[in-house]
Amino acid sequence: MYSFRDVHKRYGLRTVALRRINLDIETRDFFVLYGPAGAGKSTMLNVIAGITKPTSGDILRDGKSIVGLPPEQRDAAMAFENYALYSHLSVGENLGFPLRAKGMGKSDAEDRVKKIAATLEIDHLLDRRPGFLSGGQRQRVALGRAIIRPADIYLLDEPIGHLDAKLRHRMRAELKALAEELNATVVFTTTSSREALALADRMAVINEGRLEQVGTPRALYDSPANAFVASFVGDPPMSFLKVEAVADGDRARLVGHGGRTLGRAAAEMAGATGLSAGLRADAIRFVDRGEAEAVPARVRVIEHLGYSNIAVVDVGEDQLSVSLAADSPVRPGEELGLKIDADALHLFKDDVAVASGGR
Ligand code: ADP
Ligand code: MG
Repeated sequence: MYSFRDVHKRYGLRTVALRRINLDIETRDFFVLYGPAGAGKSTMLNVIAGITKPTSGDILRDGKSIVGLPPEQRDAAMAFENYALYSHLSVGENLGFPLRAKGMGKSDAEDRVKKIAATLEIDHLLDRRPGFLSGGQRQRVALGRAIIRPADIYLLDEPIGHLDAKLRHRMRAELKALAEELNATVVFTTTSSREALALADRMAVINEGRLEQVGTPRALYDSPANAFVASFVGDPPMSFLKVEAVADGDRARLVGHGGRTLGRAAAEMAGATGLSAGLRADAIRFVDRGEAEAVPARVRVIEHLGYSNIAVVDVGEDQLSVSLAADSPVRPGEELGLKIDADALHLFKDDVAVASGGR
């Protein structure tokens, strides 16, 4: 297990890249660091690899501090975001380099290079120099060079971010299979929600150097701790509707746009300020405007996803995403009603999740 203990990283006087991070990465987990550009993902990998020293705090491996160890004494294999290939070596030599450095025999190394190259679909490029490759090809060489040798931990920095959509999808599956085979700890960074949810055993959402939430993809999707995680995990993002909580017997009633009741909350929420209801696209459906408690909405655009559609609708000042069957007759400009599944409503106060919202 790798552990961050109060890891803080400042660059110069002004930039704080990591803010007192506490995090455990279990052995053999496929662990995803997910966050926007500039969140601190690469810095976290560099700190594990020993390329960057934290300003304060500690990094533990199975309970023992490794923060003082130089990179070569940590058994980490890293695929860098900027590739960092040897430009004077061919693709085959780049891939074989970590094996020769570990003293593997020539023919074993060649077999291993061929196997990895085939998996990453770069076997036709083995004789080329990196300067004659596309960005996506270079990226696969960098990934291959990282995963070709046994290591205690693999640090993969947006390793498939520069591939086209089709190849990215295929490499995602290959990578997951490879990780099973390697039977090792993998830390993978991405800015894609879909990639994070598809690959992670456990994942951490990072934002502005802060650890927002850690857990399984399911846990983060179903129970986001705050509005940032809610709107960042899942595609389309969760939508938010301003609500008020009104005392109603031994519960509070959540009232939204047009005075409609959207759900219930604990009695002590009554009168609270800064409340919003978080709704996934599949927790909302279109109904006739006249239906009881239907929330009045106007359809702004329809986004076609192929297997289904997403309608973006205006509700007062808020915008919601509503999932639609691909053959739905709903059109932009229509005035409709919305029915909200009260059991699927997430309640937030000042952007922090309130337990048992809606239920
Ligand atoms: P991410 O990988 O999530 O995009 P990074 O870890 O690269 O984020 O960067 C986090 C923050 O630290 C950013 O604000 C970035 O500009 C800053 N940063 C990263 N590396 C350096 C560096 N070597 N010197 C100064 N600032 C840096
Ligand atoms: Mg980065």
